[in-house]
Amino acid sequence: MADPEPLIGIDLGTTNSIVATVQDGQPVVIKNRTGQALTPSVIAVSKNGKRLVGGIAKRQAITNPQETVYAAKRLIGRKFSSHEVQDALRSLPYEVVPGQHDDLRIRMGGKDMSVPEISAMILQELKADAEAHFGRPVSKAVVTVPAYFNDAQRQATKDAGRIAGLDVLRIINEPTAAALAYGFSRTVNGRVAVLDLGGGTFDVSVLEINQGVFDVVGTGGDTYLGGEDWDNRIIEWLVFGFAKEHGIDLRKDRMALQRLKDAAEKAKVELSSVKETQLNLPFISTPPGGGAALHLQAALSREKLDDLTADLAERVVGITTEVLGEAGVRASELKEVILVGGMSRMPKIVEAVRGYFRREPCKGVHPDEVVALGAAVQAHALVAQEGELLLLDVTPQSLGVAIAGGYVRRIIPKNTTVPTSATEVFATSKDFQRLVKIMVLQGEHELAHQNELLGEFVLTGLREAPRGQVEIEVTFDINAEGIVSVSARDRETGLRQSITVTASSGLTEEELKRIMDEQRGYLMAARISEELKVKRMELDSLARDVMDALTRARLLPGGGGLPADAVPRAEQVLEHARQVRAGEDVGALGRACELLTGCLTQLKGPSRSGMGR
Ligand code: AMP
Repeated sequence: MADPEPLIGIDLGTTNSIVATVQDGQPVVIKNRTGQALTPSVIAVSKNGKRLVGGIAKRQAITNPQETVYAAKRLIGRKFSSHEVQDALRSLPYEVVPGQHDDLRIRMGGKDMSVPEISAMILQELKADAEAHFGRPVSKAVVTVPAYFNDAQRQATKDAGRIAGLDVLRIINEPTAAALAYGFSRTVNGRVAVLDLGGGTFDVSVLEINQGVFDVVGTGGDTYLGGEDWDNRIIEWLVFGFAKEHGIDLRKDRMALQRLKDAAEKAKVELSSVKETQLNLPFISTPPGGGAALHLQAALSREKLDDLTADLAERVVGITTEVLGEAGVRASELKEVILVGGMSRMPKIVEAVRGYFRREPCKGVHPDEVVALGAAVQAHALVAQEGELLLLDVTPQSLGVAIAGGYVRRIIPKNTTVPTSATEVFATSKDFQRLVKIMVLQGEHELAHQNELLGEFVLTGLREAPRGQVEIEVTFDINAEGIVSVSARDRETGLRQSITVTASSGLTEEELKRIMDEQRGYLMAARISEELKVKRMELDSLARDVMDALTRARLLPGGGGLPADAVPRAEQVLEHARQVRAGEDVGALGRACELLTGCLTQLKGPSRSGMGR
């Protein structure tokens, strides 16, 4: 029997991404083709128009800041006009422009790209790493998202998977994935809290683990709290100090900003293991009226960093308190506190968590890898159907519809276990109303416009009657991935309208298809270009050998006993190879290589045997 297709789990992070699988019954991380577990979530277009992904893109960021995109996860599924995006734009060196439906596009390599397209490039890279690991195609994956991602952000992440050529079996929440990996190799029964502080987001979930059933009791977080906020505080501090000394605002210079960002993150990471570090950025600027270049030098202590970011650490504790409160769980009843994400290495964060829970957070999981490992465990469980693993997740935000007066009627409250469905009956609010518009909202605010509009549709053909007399039944369905469908039915006529809520800020089906076609075209072109490169190298090497053999033959008396036409024939084949090399035809290059090999055998044959005698 053929081996089943390999399954992968992907942690698509703000800063770094990881791919994992289950091998010989154990979840393991798949190293990328440069031997690293972490692939930076960075995409760039180089000066010569080449697409770069991962470490290679990150390394050139300083010299190419406008064409280097990072932290796309902060923008995925968001509306351009949202305050989160507007805030993020202030510190991003690349260009972001509004799309057609208040979505956003990233300008890169002279092209406006949607965020799912950018994320798809990272997924594609991880898929290729997995394929290199298994030596065969990989197309099925579980992808993780922050628990607090709304429907638009989940849909957009799924779209990214489709563009990358992945069948996304399931989208699961990052803290849930962490708990799955944690519970995989241990016998755990009881409640655990997972705190995941990564590069861009903070997530908290409380799970009840019982005999392989992972039941999420409550979840919450902040999609705009992560390592980058700590980095930004260091940047602000450096910028302020420099402006005070030299009267120059370094934020106006994209290249300087990128260098500051790199240096700030490095300093933050260093301060997790040392008490003080130096930041050195030579030639960071020049005075406005000319003169010698200016350098930035600063010493930063761990104490100062903690001081600059005290409110951020407080937010970590505040959000945790809120989530536990909403879930009705006391800190003292938890069996374990699992702290994950790159930022969990920061002593101040460990201290804040220890202080709040009055216990040491669990150190038995790898803070970077645990989410991807959990995703792999889930992928395996979904397909293998042999284990007893059962995951019961919750909807992270409430769902409802807009009602008269600009308010929201909540239909599914947050923290409801999914899959779920709920129905509510509404009556018309105006006399002789012939249609109703159903606006599907996600969020906690009681005012409709303060929530995320997931989608809207109209139910027409209602009976004309005084207000309150026509009844409409609205049903919400949420599948196991948290993806929402809504239908509305006129109870009298049975007329029904429904939608699967597709992200109103995301891509339309036609756009998706076009992008997928483009991607296929791009991948095909990339493969051909790689094949051309390899064949040209082979041809160059053979041509060099033929030329060397020709030179030798010319030096030998009587041409070394070669047939009379061997030299002119070789010259002709070399000329032909030169012409073919300039073209783009892989097949013709292959044939030219064969001709060169034939010449080489002829040129080498008699002279070698002649010399051997
Ligand atoms: P993640 O999204 O989980 O990969 O976390 C990435 C974030 O963790 C980035 O902001 C990193 O700068 C941060 N990080 C990684 N290692 C450390 C460390 N040793 N100390 C402090 N922050 C770290």
